[in-house]
Amino acid sequence: MDWLMGKSKAKPNGKKPPAEEKKLYLEPEYAKSRITDFEFKDLVVLPREIDLNEWLASNTTTFFHHINLQYSTISEFCTGDTCQTMAVGNTQYYWYDERGKKTKCTAPQYVDFVMSSVQKLVTDEDVFPTKYGKEFPNSFESLVKKICRYLFHVLAHIYAAHFKETLALELHGHLNTLYTHFILFIREFNLVDSKEVTVMDDLTEVLCSGGGGGGNGNGGSGGSGGAQNHVKER
Ligand SMILES: [Zn+2]
Repeated sequence: MDWLMGKSKAKPNGKKPPAEEKKLYLEPEYAKSRITDFEFKDLVVLPREIDLNEWLASNTTTFFHHINLQYSTISEFCTGDTCQTMAVGNTQYYWYDERGKKTKCTAPQYVDFVMSSVQKLVTDEDVFPTKYGKEFPNSFESLVKKICRYLFHVLAHIYAAHFKETLALELHGHLNTLYTHFILFIREFNLVDSKEVTVMDDLTEVLCSGGGGGGNGNGGSGGSGGAQNHVKER
């Protein structure tokens, strides 16, 4: 799996940020939209009697499919013209090829690299074993972390660049639900560095505080997330 030797790095482009555009996805009217008010915080916790790696594998694979599907709903609007770089706000992501060489690519190319790499991994019997008696590799957790980091980039790009289209398709409730579930999952198992997710902190705070359900403020936040849980309680 030599593509994994590469890494994507987020770094500010050094330019002065353009006048902050109003973030549509933070509008309370849209941010409160969900397809369910279920407590995702409970849903992500490792159930008793289930092996941790099995749980990580099953959830990661499911998130990959859902995020792929969510991206596919706006992919016709994500072109080399509309999204010349993989950008989220002032953060640019670069793809690193298997030799570690930084690759300049458009957002749709970046997403394509992500999706095909992850697809290859989750269907690799040596990495995501499904057969009885087959062990997970030692590198499993770091691979899961890498996958989750890439999937986060895709979700963040949908919000940053394609929320208007998502709204027009009336799929923002699905997007918010998926995002909330995903963030609580990666937080529960410390899968993505908190520095990496800072770029979407404002949204995370709106969607995932108060336990991550329907924002019903039952005061249940701040639990098992540990150090990753930098979201303020309200
Ligand atoms: Zn795009």
